[in-house]
Amino acid sequence: MSCIFCKIANGEIKTSPVYEDDDVMAFDDLKPQAPVHVLVIPKEHIESMGQLSARHKEIAAKLMLAIPSIAEKKKVGQAGYRLVVNSGKDAGQEVMHLHVHMLAGRKFQWPPG
Ligand code: 5GP
Ligand code: ZN
Repeated sequence: MSCIFCKIANGEIKTSPVYEDDDVMAFDDLKPQAPVHVLVIPKEHIESMGQLSARHKEIAAKLMLAIPSIAEKKKVGQAGYRLVVNSGKDAGQEVMHLHVHMLAGRKFQWPPG
């Protein structure tokens, strides 16, 4: 398995997790696009939103529920943050392992680019 996020999730590539439980992990993005840029992933390899199914209900819930505590840990819960899931080619998904970007620490534009 050559998936970089699977390697991070199974400890093959060492990282300092911002958050971790049995099903979810969060870590700082390698190339941050904002002062705070965290990636939140399921430990299970799910390629993209298109592969998410009812089978993943608990994992998907845990993924979302981890976010407020990650925001608190990064001290951006009050100021706010943007969540982004790039899914597929047109959205510019580069790593084919589902992940939520949490971006914070600056103002973001709307509509997004
Ligand atoms: P995507 O374009 O797939 O939504 O985002 C992939 C993200 O993963 C990018 O923001 C990129 O900087 C980040 N990334 C790619 N490889 C690594 C890595 O090995 N470690 C970490 N921490 N982030 C990575
Ligand atoms: Zn993977």
